Amino acid sequence: MPHDTNATTPQATGHSPLATSYSLPGLLEVITGPMFSGKSEELIRRLKRARIARQRVACYKPDIDLRYHRTSIASHSSQTHDACPVTNVEHLREDLYPQLADVEVVGIDEVQFLSPEIIPLALELVALGKRVLMAGLDTTFANEPFGPVPALMALADKVTKLSAVCMVCGQSAIHTQRLGASQELVVVGATGIYEARCRAHFKPWVDEHGSEQLELAAAL
Ligand code: ADP
Ligand code: MG
Repeated sequence: MPHDTNATTPQATGHSPLATSYSLPGLLEVITGPMFSGKSEELIRRLKRARIARQRVACYKPDIDLRYHRTSIASHSSQTHDACPVTNVEHLREDLYPQLADVEVVGIDEVQFLSPEIIPLALELVALGKRVLMAGLDTTFANEPFGPVPALMALADKVTKLSAVCMVCGQSAIHTQRLGASQELVVVGATGIYEARCRAHFKPWVDEHGSEQLELAAAL
């Protein structure tokens, strides 16, 4: 049997079999968990590290969430990072695309408030070689998957699922408990309206004993 001198062998082409001639795709990283689990802190940490590495960063948040700062994302521990508030996914695309050639990392906080159109946009950005960091709640206060987050988790390269501290017992909390009477899906707020709870102490919908829990939260 003569030796096969096929031109596609590494020896014939001079390339390693693992070498690529196309531009590398980027990465989709999802940071998720309940309220107070440190999603925004972790997003801010990754964005700051990217900037230390001299990568150019564009950061967005839905304008529904203007709790603390209009033009930045903020954690409950008061860390912040500049962010552009957007009304919807189309608005985000319109702002991002003119500067896309200069951007290497795209961060989005509170992604659960964006429509499912964020999913193809995320994949498009990854295909263009961008590192896309998305932080958001995985479940609603009624313990249902929240907006586009579960699909983004399924499609991500890396998922970081964080937990908070249960405000009743101090165990690891994966749920967001709404306190008080409102039944609306989206009531933006933080301490006093929501708190982190473990499986044992989470009560979907409304915790009738919210005021007691508030006192407990204030005492911690
Ligand atoms: P998320 O974006 O997930 O809501 P943040 O990054 O804004 O969370 O805030 C995380 C910070 O919230 C923690 O570092 C801690 O200082 C504070 N915090 C307040 N309540 C809790 C809790 N129940 N569990 C954990 N951290 C809490
Ligand atoms: Mg947050």
